[in-house]
Amino acid sequence: MDTRGELVNGFDYDLQTWVKGYIIQKCGHPAPDRNGFFCTCNARKYAGHDIRAIKKQLSQATNPEPEPAGFVCVCENCGDISREDQPVNLCGPCAAVAGRERIK
Ligand SMILES: [Zn+2]
Ligand SMILES: [Zn+2]
Repeated sequence: MDTRGELVNGFDYDLQTWVKGYIIQKCGHPAPDRNGFFCTCNARKYAGHDIRAIKKQLSQATNPEPEPAGFVCVCENCGDISREDQPVNLCGPCAAVAGRERIK
């Protein structure tokens, strides 16, 4: 493990692959065998790739970025959708044109 807890050399249990210097090593499965069986394990899929990049990719696929905090506000005047830290009825530009405080 390196200082960030990333696997440098060894066996990664999440992906079931061997890793050497962050690089995923090819699996030892015969490929393709006489029956045309072609293994689809992670080691074959990701061989030669940096495990940190693969893990990042996989975690993004399963855990999409969380919605940013705030309120989705639709402007009553122009219909623009904006994300505000509190609910408002007018977007910034419309509030400025109307010359009044946005109603909260
Ligand atoms: Zn394999
Ligand atoms: Zn507006």
